Amino acid sequence: MTVPSTRTTYQVIDPSTEQPVVEVELMSAEETDRAIERSQRAFDQWRHVAPADRGRLLRSFATAVDGAREELAALEVRNSGHTISNARWEAGNVRDVLDYYSAAPERHFGRQIPVAGGVDVTFKEPLGVVGIIVPWNFPMPIAGWGLAPALAAGNTVVLKPAELTPMTAMRLGELALEAGIPEGVLTVLPGKGSVVGDRFVTNPGVRKICFTGSTEVGTRIMARAAVQVKRLTLELGGKSANIVFADADLEKAAATAPYSVFDNAGQDCCARSRILVQRSAYDRFMELLEPAVTGVKVLAPGRDDSEMGPLVSADQRDRVAAYVDGPGDGVEVAFRGSAPEGPGWWYPPTVVLPRSTADAVWREEVFGPVVAVLPFEDEADAVRMANDTEYGLSGSIWTRDVGKALRVARGVEAGNLSVNSHSSVRYSTPFGGFKASGLGRELGPDALDSFSDVKNVFIDTED
Ligand code: NAP
Ligand code: MG
Repeated sequence: MTVPSTRTTYQVIDPSTEQPVVEVELMSAEETDRAIERSQRAFDQWRHVAPADRGRLLRSFATAVDGAREELAALEVRNSGHTISNARWEAGNVRDVLDYYSAAPERHFGRQIPVAGGVDVTFKEPLGVVGIIVPWNFPMPIAGWGLAPALAAGNTVVLKPAELTPMTAMRLGELALEAGIPEGVLTVLPGKGSVVGDRFVTNPGVRKICFTGSTEVGTRIMARAAVQVKRLTLELGGKSANIVFADADLEKAAATAPYSVFDNAGQDCCARSRILVQRSAYDRFMELLEPAVTGVKVLAPGRDDSEMGPLVSADQRDRVAAYVDGPGDGVEVAFRGSAPEGPGWWYPPTVVLPRSTADAVWREEVFGPVVAVLPFEDEADAVRMANDTEYGLSGSIWTRDVGKALRVARGVEAGNLSVNSHSSVRYSTPFGGFKASGLGRELGPDALDSFSDVKNVFIDTED
């Protein structure tokens, strides 16, 4: 006898006011299975939609997202506490990613390979239903990075937002329908990771999982997906290094460093949460860093001038605070910025000085507005320290010496590096991690290949 699982709901709370926003119904395992079945049926139609029409539908979806940009941004401010300027960028990023991949259906080429006795051609075949599991830190962009190339390659999508942050994903699901994307092609299923996410992994109707989240959950999903040889993309945690050489533009390096780690209140897998400064420039850099940190505008996220909002939840704020103010002998705080008093899960931008590279705050992903600074001696030391981590997602290199910049960029074991800049993400270039930071790449021209399998067909032309 199957016992139907009881319906549950989740109360969304505004992280900046702690006021209730909306109650969201969470999907059960049975409802998830039914949605996967509907998605399988929709796949039979979607894969046969003419390439130009599939492209046109994705462009209509992009236009619908563009039209709803302010609405989506406002939802993210209330649901996730993102600053309004970040949230506008995030909604715009979904539009751009849809636009970028709308060109793909007509350009997802196979090959013609020279062989004896006939013609050999390859096809990029869609996989079927793709399950996308999204974390709470960037609900809109991470949904878009999965769903746009997946749909462009001819797959259908079931998408689970994080339990904490379902609102923008649910709206994106509605916008897809309004734009003419057929029913069942993109299904957003709010629910728990242990229920909806787990069914994506265990239901054989889902042919690929695209997971972004913690390394802990990602490794468990990888092990369980192995049973079905289920395809997998993993985007996991990071502990990225911001390496500042003495010959760098120290003013610019110091002025920008806070934004490379405190953006989104540090809840960013690409956060440059370890600053490595060459010893000869250390004192000067710290002198310049202090006003840059205290100058970060931590304000109500709906304000246009807010540069940093609250953390997503009370739990996350407490986890972050434990690295700095927790029990034990604590860690030395060099200086910190400000945060509003009163309700909301605020934590001020904080710069700490670990005693050594063994300190937890140097080694673990804090996922909050805390950055640790240590000096290094020379180029070899910088690369060794940067690589002394299980992670390898991103990083920055500040120097005026182009040769050194390239040598260090080649030496650092990470998927996304920037020189004299902190940019990690462009929809037209690949994004993903080395080592425990992930598996596979999203965005850019090659992401489509991870949403298709290559089929080889030989046609005999002998008489
Ligand atoms: P998480 O606990 O790993 O959750 C991520 C997603 O997985 C959520 O939707 C979650 O659902 C779901 N989930 C949890 N347990 C599951 C299970 N057993 N089976 C299937 N799905 C499951 O991570 P988080 O706390 O949301 O996010 C913070 C972490 O994500 C950080 O470590 C961060 O670095 C990483 N991250 C990495 C990237 C990247 O691109 N590399 C980007 C963003 C975040 P619930 O909502 O129900 O928990
Ligand atoms: Mg979690």
